[in-house]
Amino acid sequence: MQLTAEHHALRDTLKKFIENEINPHVDEWEEKEIFPAHDVFKGMGDLGLLGVTKPEEYGGMGLDWSYGAVVAETLGHIKCGAIPMAIGVQTDMATPALAKFGSDAAKEDFLKPSISGDYVACLGVSEVGSGSDVASIKTTASKDGDDYIINGGKMWTTSGTQADWMCLLANTSDDAAHRNKTLICLPLKDDSGKHRDGVTVARKLKKLGMRSSDTAEFFFEDVRVPQR
Ligand SMILES: Cc1cc2nc3c(=O)[nH]c(=O)nc-3n(C[C@H](O)[C@H](O)[C@H](O)COP(=O)(O)OP(=O)(O)OC[C@H]3O[C@@H](n4cnc5c(N)ncnc54)[C@H](O)[C@@H]3O)c2cc1C
Repeated sequence: MQLTAEHHALRDTLKKFIENEINPHVDEWEEKEIFPAHDVFKGMGDLGLLGVTKPEEYGGMGLDWSYGAVVAETLGHIKCGAIPMAIGVQTDMATPALAKFGSDAAKEDFLKPSISGDYVACLGVSEVGSGSDVASIKTTASKDGDDYIINGGKMWTTSGTQADWMCLLANTSDDAAHRNKTLICLPLKDDSGKHRDGVTVARKLKKLGMRSSDTAEFFFEDVRVPQR
């Protein structure tokens, strides 16, 4: 692939941000086993770096995959694996399905603030006993009027203790395991910034590596979310 002047400019912008705003703090954040995701993501969002491949309508740059590849490669300049991983969850795990398949209302409420860096997103797929075998997840979202009611739990959730919302995979019917699943935008906090009723961050997991990325275990008990 031939890189254009625009690819180089994008790489230089991100590299400068990493050198000035991330790398000087990595040792401290690794020691503390958490990095300030809202501050780092807001700084990146202000530079447009969280929405390089996302639609311009929602604050993205609307560029093709090659620019996303340049961002991913440049994140390698961060002096640890944890922060690139958390950024990757925000840009390439929790938000692509929303950008591609989400309703306008869901994109307005969850995609836009995730691109601007106002929201930290997390991905709720893995569960205790359902890692590689995603089809075996047990979390359910049952319909009640215009709402879903969510019960279950998630494990190994990157940025989980800090996240504002979760891209949650749940079973929405008793159909076959590969046909009964829905991704749901689940707001985790209320207006005061506390976790909503029924949302419990059970613990922040201690890890051998990726230390400055907080990894959470969640429980959900009758958590109500509107269908969108
Ligand atoms: C740092 C970290 C961050 C994470 N962040 C997130 C997150 O944000 N959101 C999220 O949803 N999940 C997250 N995960 C979970 C991650 O996706 C799972 O760890 C992964 O899917 C593997 O699942 P598991 O750990 O249960 O291992 P298992 O599925 O139990 O696998 C254990 C071992 O068995 C092997 N194995 C499994 N099945 C087979 C098979 N059929 N044939 C041959 N070998 C097999 C695997 O390769 C592996 O070596 C995170 C994990 C880590 C470590």
